[in-house]
Amino acid sequence: MQGLVLSATNNLFKVLCEDGCTRLCAIKGKRISTLTGSYNSLAAGDTVELAPTDSGRGLILALNPRRNVFGRFNEKGRAEQAIAANIDLVVCVSSPHLPPFRPRFVDRVAVLAEAASSPLLIVLNKADLDIPAETAERLEGYRGLGYGVAVLSAKKGKGIEELREALKGRTSVLTGQSGVGKSSLLNVLYPGLDRKTGEVSIKYDRGKHTTTLAEMMLPGDTGTRVIDTPGMRRLALRGLDPSNLAAYFPEMRRLVGECGFGLSCTHIDEENCGIVAGVERGEVHPDRYESFLRIRDELESAVDWKRSGNRDPGRKERTASARSRRHKSSTFDQDDDDPEEHAGEGDRRLK
Ligand code: GDP
Ligand code: ZN
Repeated sequence: MQGLVLSATNNLFKVLCEDGCTRLCAIKGKRISTLTGSYNSLAAGDTVELAPTDSGRGLILALNPRRNVFGRFNEKGRAEQAIAANIDLVVCVSSPHLPPFRPRFVDRVAVLAEAASSPLLIVLNKADLDIPAETAERLEGYRGLGYGVAVLSAKKGKGIEELREALKGRTSVLTGQSGVGKSSLLNVLYPGLDRKTGEVSIKYDRGKHTTTLAEMMLPGDTGTRVIDTPGMRRLALRGLDPSNLAAYFPEMRRLVGECGFGLSCTHIDEENCGIVAGVERGEVHPDRYESFLRIRDELESAVDWKRSGNRDPGRKERTASARSRRHKSSTFDQDDDDPEEHAGEGDRRLK
């Protein structure tokens, strides 16, 4: 029998089976052989082959090939963590205040969406509040990069129809920092689902792995699947090849061909770097370049850690000096992007 994974908790999976029943399933033999090394074995949106068991439960026999994966790096578990699979749209929910708009968080989500070859929709909720000019400018910038941007308000019900339309008939994963109003949005979009809002959040991966990372909801209209994720403080990225990171920044990937050192260019401080030239010509936003440098640094650290030898001993210093030379300061410098401070945390609000 075929089934769709709705959520995963502590190696038990809620699976909607083709007979219409939802069964709690374990994996036969505990592991999916094709997924060795992953932090969690199955993600919301996975489709599986299963065998129903007597107790009304089921045993998962195999994972069907994934079309794509939206995931992050779990810093505690030191492994890639699939959050959602087989998605058509990544939605990054943000707000202008409480919490403030954080383009560096958006940039990370954008990289993950690019890695999943999924379109990205950036939602600015709480548009009933004042939107700072710099935030509006950044949103225009994202639009210019080809990402969808929707400015709306769950509170005022503004822009909700358009969002519902964007989600219709697709499998979407909703991500955002805690407090941006993701639950409120889901409640006005799909009143029957009754998401809990405004609660004191509980850290979800502090204890044993007994929590749900993502949860798929089926609001009932034709084929719409919405995967909600717990509010996160930051998204750790590790699994990508740092030397290929520019490929995940649409405005940078077309400049790589201009780099004098070609594919070996780190885009940090080389002569004739197409990306650095792009920053200087104003084609690449300095904050996007800053995000690029930070993520690149993070990815390089992971490579260093894996090889337990430092590939490029001066890299940190080179990055720091490139940063101070090229990056004009902006209000978004306060963006919390510090791995030490927020190692793999997420604020948990799903049941
Ligand atoms: P979540 O953590 O992203 O699920 O956020 P919640 O849905 O729990 O909302 C966090 C807070 O933001 C709550 O106090 C909501 O009332 C408030 N909020 C949600 N949507 C809006 C909105 O459109 N405008 C305003 N002003 N506040 C909102
Ligand atoms: Zn370069």
